[in-house]
Amino acid sequence: MAEVQTTNQSILVVGGGMSGITSALEAAEAGYDVVLVEKNPYLGGRVTQLYQYFPKLCPPNCGLEINFRRMRQNPKVRFFTMAEVANISGSEGNYDVSIKLLPRYVNDKCTCCGKCSDVCEAEIDNPFNFGMDKIKGAYLPHEFAFPMRYVMDPSIVETEDGKKCLEACEYDAVELDMAETTFDLNVGAIVWAAGWDPYEAEKIDYYGFGEYKNVITNMMMERMASPNGPTGGKILRPSDGKEVKNIAFVQCAGSRDENHLPYCSGVCCLASMKQAIYVREAHPDCAISIFFIDIRALDRLEDFYTKVQEDEKIEFIKSKIANISEDEATGSLLLEGENTRTGEQLRMTFDMAVLATGMVPNKFDIDGAPEVAADEYGFVVNDPEKAGIYGAGCVRRPTDVASSVQDATSSALKAIQSIARR
Ligand SMILES: Cc1cc2nc3c(=O)[nH]c(=O)nc-3n(C[C@H](O)[C@H](O)[C@H](O)COP(=O)(O)OP(=O)(O)OC[C@H]3O[C@@H](n4cnc5c(N)ncnc54)[C@H](O)[C@@H]3O)c2cc1C
Ligand code: SF4
Ligand code: SF4
Repeated sequence: MAEVQTTNQSILVVGGGMSGITSALEAAEAGYDVVLVEKNPYLGGRVTQLYQYFPKLCPPNCGLEINFRRMRQNPKVRFFTMAEVANISGSEGNYDVSIKLLPRYVNDKCTCCGKCSDVCEAEIDNPFNFGMDKIKGAYLPHEFAFPMRYVMDPSIVETEDGKKCLEACEYDAVELDMAETTFDLNVGAIVWAAGWDPYEAEKIDYYGFGEYKNVITNMMMERMASPNGPTGGKILRPSDGKEVKNIAFVQCAGSRDENHLPYCSGVCCLASMKQAIYVREAHPDCAISIFFIDIRALDRLEDFYTKVQEDEKIEFIKSKIANISEDEATGSLLLEGENTRTGEQLRMTFDMAVLATGMVPNKFDIDGAPEVAADEYGFVVNDPEKAGIYGAGCVRRPTDVASSVQDATSSALKAIQSIARR
């Protein structure tokens, strides 16, 4: 069992996305001991899957790398990947927490030589690319992974592939008998920064996601546009690998809808506009139609909307798409709805449709834990009456990275104040 020394002056941060990393670093740089736990085999959260950031269209890895460097240089932050909170008890100023560590089957001697992957025959759906491609059962989660270390999928551990990986590794880094472990912590305050998951597009049955290959989600588009994604950055139709001639972006896919997510996710209009730019850069002849109820661009990012509108090949159509169907012979998609500006019925055919699905908060739901206030949709509300556990970033509201970082900084301060009060 791992032993991690903490006291009731320490802070636990749950979730190693931009928000959790920020809270952890801000608290550590103010002199507090921090333990950060992340359930993925790498830090960075959803941002690692984005190709570029709006509005500047820069790669997210630059910002992440700066934070990883801050983390490497600060012994006050200890982080654990493949780690989740199993249990929390206690109250403000004195929480007992149990952390579960899942086996990675690869230890920190890994040099990323890749030989285990070379000899492994089994392939699994690549979770980083939403299953759009396959990877070997022994794999590096992605090329900028932090920590930079391979992982073995549990499905290969007890197979011939597992043995081959063990034999191929010249650094004694493969540990097939690694098991799940737990360790206990005592901390004074907790920051819940578990982020968000994409809304399950299968639930919007009239858009045919999961049934029609050429209907994808906005997060899948981020991976498709990335040079390290499943198509090497080319925007290709999943059904036949052909270059796309026209694409529909369907806004509010499930959002602002009482049957799905009643709220607005705030960033998916900007995300679609950004993705329209990705497509136009990769395929200058491709025409784009963005179907929207109304465009919501976060405050200063309205300028970005204005810029995108200047592109003649990007058309904005005010309409809530009612149905998508597929021509089985060609894989083309028929979108139907009403143009709410003109009142005309709309029937348009596209090579591909991108659903702008919204963000669902990862709720605070831990065995034995004290209650944390949340709104009707599950977003954490930092209630002064229930001090000690604070939400940070997209668990508090769906938003962009800059606002998540600001919110995470204020949550770190709240955690510090909480400790100071006791
Ligand atoms: C299509 C799309 C495009 C976007 N593009 C942009 C953009 O260009 N620019 C921009 O500013 N914003 C963009 N965003 C928004 C951006 O993704 C969020 O602002 C950002 O992810 C918020 O970071 P976070 O740390 O709060 O959450 P996350 O990124 O979700 O990180 C949360 C972390 O917590 C971990 N976790 C979850 N549950 C647990 C648990 N129980 N225990 C331990 N760990 C856990 C997760 O694995 C994850 O690593 C986009 C969003 C979408 C949907
Ligand atoms: S586990 Fe061993 S073989 Fe696999 S990448 Fe790491 S060092 Fe190389
Ligand atoms: S940001 Fe745009 S697409 Fe997303 S829910 Fe709000 S209005 Fe709809």
